Amino acid sequence: MPQWDFLNFLSTHARKFSSFDLRMEREAVGLLGDGGRIVGVEVQTPDGPAEIRADLVVGCDGRHSVIRKAAQLELIEFGVPIDVLWFHISRRGNDPEQLLGNFNYGRALVLINRDKYFQAGLLIRKGSFEEMKAAGLDAFRKTLLRIAPYLGDRVDELKDWDQIKLLSVQLNRLRQWYRPGLLCIGDAAHAMSPAGGVGINLAIQDAVATANLLSDALRERRVTEDLLAQVQRRREFPTRVTQRIQATVHKMFDRLFRNPGPAKPPWQLKVAVRIPGVQRLLARAVGSGVRPEHIRDASVGTIEKVA
Ligand SMILES: Cc1cc2nc3c(=O)[nH]c(=O)nc-3n(C[C@H](O)[C@H](O)[C@H](O)COP(=O)(O)OP(=O)(O)OC[C@H]3O[C@@H](n4cnc5c(N)ncnc54)[C@H](O)[C@@H]3O)c2cc1C
Repeated sequence: MPQWDFLNFLSTHARKFSSFDLRMEREAVGLLGDGGRIVGVEVQTPDGPAEIRADLVVGCDGRHSVIRKAAQLELIEFGVPIDVLWFHISRRGNDPEQLLGNFNYGRALVLINRDKYFQAGLLIRKGSFEEMKAAGLDAFRKTLLRIAPYLGDRVDELKDWDQIKLLSVQLNRLRQWYRPGLLCIGDAAHAMSPAGGVGINLAIQDAVATANLLSDALRERRVTEDLLAQVQRRREFPTRVTQRIQATVHKMFDRLFRNPGPAKPPWQLKVAVRIPGVQRLLARAVGSGVRPEHIRDASVGTIEKVA
């Protein structure tokens, strides 16, 4: 499910709760503090600045989080050797469903099926985008064709660098995910790389764990620092393990970048994917993650009733 459909799905269901309130076009720009406790956020709205007060602020504003910066939480950075170039290429009826791994000639291209088009992601060496731009669009199109010749004349759809966005990849983690009145989750607490396509899963699992551990306390207005620490304790282990796996995958990409010739998948991989059930098992392991989370709160029943 594309991320925007998922967000609409969530907000449509959440609206069935009378107390749910979604305010769009509010950009968090800072935190409100009172005697060492966070008590809300400063936001920029189309009508000017405003303040939103809350018993708990949850910073879930992604890998460039303004909230974690404003909270001055200590960030541990792990170097990443890749960035991603993000662009569209049209899809044809006879194209395969998903083309997740095109590894060749020192490059990797991922094509995600969005029905009429592919969302394409070209993995490049970190910091090499300017070099590629200097070499020109024609060279860029040729690079794509070398990795994925079946794209044919569709690479000519890329006529301007404006069609190609640079997404900077990060891998990092906060030492402490909370302060009194504030909790960071998802990429704001631990930026994930695209490796394995699991960052969204982890962000959602963090949210589910947060709901399970805090919803009673929030209802009774008694969220303590100890409860916020419990969220970090529960979610830090799966984050650490997943980030370690991602760092290993980055090393493999780094080796790929150093080999400009045709790539050959290791024979062990070729054998492994042919074993019946292996692909299914792998997909399940990636989907569920290191520590799956399930909503435990009684209010889930309420969603069913309201729906
Ligand atoms: C190039 C790239 C490709 C990736 N591909 C995949 C993939 O295929 N599958 C996968 O699972 N993971 C992927 N990841 C990782 C994944 O994107 C993240 O781990 C995941 O999106 C984290 O979810 P999140 O909700 O914490 O943050 P985000 O998805 O980044 O959401 C943060 C939200 O906060 C909003 N926001 C930001 N700043 C503010 C502000 N100041 N005020 C108000 N709102 C704000 C943003 O608009 C956004 O809606 C990829 C990462 C990269 C860099």
